[in-house]
This record gives sequence, structure tokens and C-alpha cells, in this order.
Amino acid sequence: MMAMEESAVVATSLRNITAGITGHAAGNDAQALTVTAVQAAIHACVVPVTQTEWVPLSEALGRVLAGDILSPIDLPGHDNSAMDGWALRSADLRADTDTQLTQVGTALAGHPYAGPVGPGECVRIMTGAMLPAGTDSVVMQEIVRADGMRIVIARGEHAGRNVRHRGESLLRGAVALPAGTLLRPSGIGLAASLGIQTVMVRRRLRVAFFSTGDELRMPGEVLRPGDIYDSNRQTVGAMLERLGCDAIDLGAIGDDPARLEAAFRQAAASADVVITTGGVSAGDHDFTRPLMEKLGEVLFWKIAIRPGRPMAFGRITADQKAACLFALPGNPVAVMVTFYQFVRSALLAMMGQTPAAPLALSLPLQHALRKKPGRTEFLRGIVESRDGLSSVRSTGSQGSAMLSSMCDANCFIVLRHEQGDVQQGDLVEVMLFEGLI
Ligand code: AMP
Ligand code: MG
Repeated sequence: MMAMEESAVVATSLRNITAGITGHAAGNDAQALTVTAVQAAIHACVVPVTQTEWVPLSEALGRVLAGDILSPIDLPGHDNSAMDGWALRSADLRADTDTQLTQVGTALAGHPYAGPVGPGECVRIMTGAMLPAGTDSVVMQEIVRADGMRIVIARGEHAGRNVRHRGESLLRGAVALPAGTLLRPSGIGLAASLGIQTVMVRRRLRVAFFSTGDELRMPGEVLRPGDIYDSNRQTVGAMLERLGCDAIDLGAIGDDPARLEAAFRQAAASADVVITTGGVSAGDHDFTRPLMEKLGEVLFWKIAIRPGRPMAFGRITADQKAACLFALPGNPVAVMVTFYQFVRSALLAMMGQTPAAPLALSLPLQHALRKKPGRTEFLRGIVESRDGLSSVRSTGSQGSAMLSSMCDANCFIVLRHEQGDVQQGDLVEVMLFEGLI
């Protein structure tokens, strides 16, 4: 199958798939879907890209393994010392009196001691050096009195074994890293320790994105009354780059049906995923909705979330190439919140990463917060740690256009759907930016 023909979004009707999942928010916003229902609906519609490629390990950071990496060797490959000290035969250790041994040689990392070690003998050994034949234990140098080639281990000293055994970290043939692993520095290092030079990974996800709005200007352009600089496109590009996607920037498109249609077509033809910002709020519906629907199957969702209420999701096709579409709201904070709550994990799934629930902490709130049940709120928060105790507070004003609140924050404070007002000292759910963003 050719790269361009493959789609990361399922081909059957999205409406059918999502119909069984979607849950509506109760109360006075009966039209709105809950955050969890939307997350489930999106996940039901996306599939991983199937194409793979071999890349050098040195270029594999952030890539997703397409197959298990099996260990080609035992790790470690030989019994070796975990300490600097002397290797000895543990049967020589005396319980009733001091143990005296004769040093017959030296073993260094990379320079094994070749000879045999007999009763009453020992070998000076350094960390990582192969354990000489006949020895089974290492005494750390701190508990040894050495006098030339004679060493003494005081009676009653617990000698310990201090040996790392062959294969104790991985046996040959065992799964070192499973398919679906996102390679982090530790995974790169583990693969390197097995002598692996190239790894098979899924191909990168191609994500085309553009912003919409007649008011958008580029840096360097003069702002006319009512204009603003286009920030969303830079934010989206940066978030995609962080995730290791091939990000294709299609620019800022004015509110013009012909140009928007051309942009959607170009995006669908060139990418697995299309992300747009703006143009999905109620006022814009009449104009963007028929446009998107003309190109495929697009669901317009009102979500019980703050910030980020409207969002469209679907599959659009151009030149017989289908792409998954996320049409995000226009407000800059809403863009980031909807990206991290709905888009990110879908992209990771399409990249082939084994899904992992985001790490959520519970921390006491430094002040009371007002909250209406019936929607999920993502407040920008600051986790502070003092004397080993952490607590969280809001960054203050939470306007969905205030990107500075995202800059000041180091977490989202997540007030779940059913949650009402929160009192000072109450535990609240916290999603740390570190690891997410
Ligand atoms: P919309 O959803 O298109 O009505 O946009 C909602 C708000 O977000 C408006 O105030 C827009 O000016 C603003 N907005 C839309 N797109 C961008 C963008 N690319 N950068 C910054 N602000 C934007
Ligand atoms: Mg707009």
C-alpha cells in the first residue's frame, strides 16, 4: 500500500460509530456532549498508520516502535561486580574469626582476570569487571583491610554478594521494548545496551494545519483596526512538533469559502490529519458547516467543556485520500485545551503508541473556586511545592483568549463534569504540563 493511500481514520460511518458512545450532558445544556464521551468517540474512529521504516537508533528519539525489540543477548552478558572490592569464594568466609585471603590478580572492566581462583585466594576487582572463574561474591573495599597482597575481612562483617548476574536484567529472546513504545532516552539507551543499531518504527504522522479568520495577520504586517496576529498556527505547529509529527503549515486562510475549500482539499490530499482553528463557533456554522460536509463526514459537536465548547471532528477526502479532521475553536487557550484533551491522544494512537491514561494527581487547592456542575473545566493552575508538600492554585483570570495564563501555568486544574464549588483545602485533579505539553 502506498503511503498516501493509507488513512489513519476508519472508513465506516463516523456517525454510526459515535452514535453508541456519545453521552449528553445533563441539566440545562442537554445538547452538549461530555468530555469523556467525546474522547471515547474520537478514539473509536482512529487507527494507527500501518507503514513502517527502519531508522538508526541515534535518530529514533520520539518515534514509536512498530514491532517488539527482542533482546539478542543476555543482559548483562556475564556475571560482574556491582562494587569496587575483592572477588572471592564465599565458602572461604569465616564466621568464627577474621578471614585472610591472598590476592592473586586484578580484574578491571573490560580486562577480565583469566586465571583460576583457588581456596584462600581472591582477586582485586572493579565495578563492571567480569567475575573471575571460581569466585561467587565481592566484598566491598570499605570493609577490607589490605596489606600488600594479603587482605583481611573482619569477623562478623556482612560480606554480601554484590554480583550482577548474567541475564538478570534481560534474558536473550525476552521482549526488551514492546511494539507501541514511544522511544524516550531510556529506551534508546536500553536498545543500545543490546547492541541494536537500527529500529523499526511507524512512519511519522503527517498533520496539515491552518488557521482561519479575516482578522489574522502575520508578524511584520501592519494591524488594521480589529486585526490580530495569528498565534494559533504557531501554537499548533509547536504542539505538533513536540509530538514528533510531520507538521505541514498551510497558512492563515481568510473567511472565504473558495479559499477555505481549496485549503481543506490541499490538507486532506497531503496529510493523515487536518487541524484547523476558528470558524466553528455558532455564528460561523452556516458558512463552514456546509463546506466541511461537502468534503466528507464531519460531526459538529457542542461539548460541555470550558474553555473550548464547539469543535468539529470527522473525515474529509480529496483526491481519493482521506484525512481525519479536527476543527478546533478559535480562542487561543481553547485551542490548547482541546488539543491536549481531544487531539493529542488521538494523534498518539494514530502514531501507533500504546495508549496510556494521562497521569492525574490529586492536590489540595490553596483557595476556593466556583464551579457549576454539568461541564468539565480546565483551569490554568500553578502547582507549588514547599517542604515536600504540594498544593495548587489558579493563575487568576481564566479568559479563553489569554494565552499568558497558559504561560504562567504549569498544570491544568481539572474540575470534572459533576463537580460543584470547591473549598480551600479540597483535593482537586491536576494534570501536570510536564510530560503532557
Ligand atoms: P472564531 O471561532 O473564528 O469565531 O474565533 C474566536 C476568537 O478567536 C476570535 O476572537 C478570533 O479573533 C480568535 N482567533 C481565531 N483564530 C485565531 C488565531 N489564529 N490566532 C489568534 N486568535 C484567533
Ligand atoms: Mg473566525
